[in-house]
Amino acid sequence: MMAGRQDGKTAVEDNELVTITLSRDKRQAAVEVGSALGDARVVALTSHVNPDGDGIGSEIALVHILRALGKEPSIANPTPTPGRFEFLFRDLPGIDRSTEAVKAIRRADLIVVLDIADTGRLGHLGPAVVERGVPVICVDHHASPGTLPPGPRYVDPRAAATGELVYELAVANEWPLLVPTARALYVALLTDTGGFRFSNTHPRTLRIAADLLETGIDPESIYLDVYANAPEGRPRLLAETLETLVVEPELGLAWVTVPPGAMERHGLTPDDLEGVVEFPRAIAGVRMAILFRELSQGRVKVSLRSVGDVDVARFAHALGGGGHAKAAGVAVPGTLAQVQTQILRAAREYLAGNGRPQ
Ligand code: 5GP
Ligand code: MN
Repeated sequence: MMAGRQDGKTAVEDNELVTITLSRDKRQAAVEVGSALGDARVVALTSHVNPDGDGIGSEIALVHILRALGKEPSIANPTPTPGRFEFLFRDLPGIDRSTEAVKAIRRADLIVVLDIADTGRLGHLGPAVVERGVPVICVDHHASPGTLPPGPRYVDPRAAATGELVYELAVANEWPLLVPTARALYVALLTDTGGFRFSNTHPRTLRIAADLLETGIDPESIYLDVYANAPEGRPRLLAETLETLVVEPELGLAWVTVPPGAMERHGLTPDDLEGVVEFPRAIAGVRMAILFRELSQGRVKVSLRSVGDVDVARFAHALGGGGHAKAAGVAVPGTLAQVQTQILRAAREYLAGNGRPQ
């Protein structure tokens, strides 16, 4: 067990593994989350549609923690788990109940929503979460005030990943930090920082990553599982998508478009597009990069990335989406051609006005 120490630091099993400290406010919020979990038995963990490494990693970490505490956790996501994260489920058969997520939500006496604060991003699970009428814990690193039903909140937009916040919860509540927990949290940090490259890679992020590595997890094997285990179609889709690149150097705008039907043709899921938008973003002089992808139901997913002080979260918010200053997104109704025309016009205007919050 972790033991609190007088200097405010915490040791794991008497080893000096934990190097971060928590403010008093955070510690109090963390303890409130811990006590709500302590009162519960059946806990449903959920995250946003097309869950990513941060959402899944945070869920898996909490599964291990809750099981160690004698609880009955399950994972109930609105859309399936991407194949690249299946290795995290190897020692947890039956834990992923996403194919019958509504049922899992209806059984829960506590719901934990990770990596989002908006009911709208829960897809078809939104109404089930609201109707269940049990407390909803939210652990998130987005700036949105959120629309979830009431319950303890542990939200900090300064955190690089929700996994960072789960780690803090573990420290504050003196939950055991076992190897599979550390591995899952490392995946959360690794993926949400783009492999510890993005601007959200704070000293604290690396301190937490270091604490996680102290448990003996192997960063190379995690890297191989997450990034080097791709279906052949993934690089083929990447090639087809990069073919569509358009650059407008005057404003620093660049975009790519997933060719309609290409994902289905290659048997891929949205997760296989992870990182594609980094290519237009990486062109010299680009300040805003966009990835367009046709969704079903007459909508288009717009993924936004920025460089420097362009704030794409603000841009996405104005359109009903959200995210972070340098990585945001929105689903816009319309055909691919209509949405591209609309978004590109708005992006040009935004960049001409410098793209900064007024
Ligand atoms: P991505 O482009 O990788 O799908 O998403 C980047 C970030 O933008 C995510 O971490 C998430 O915060 C945000 N995001 C993406 N799509 C949406 C959306 O449709 N609505 C909202 N509110 N946020 C989104
Ligand atoms: Mn995240």
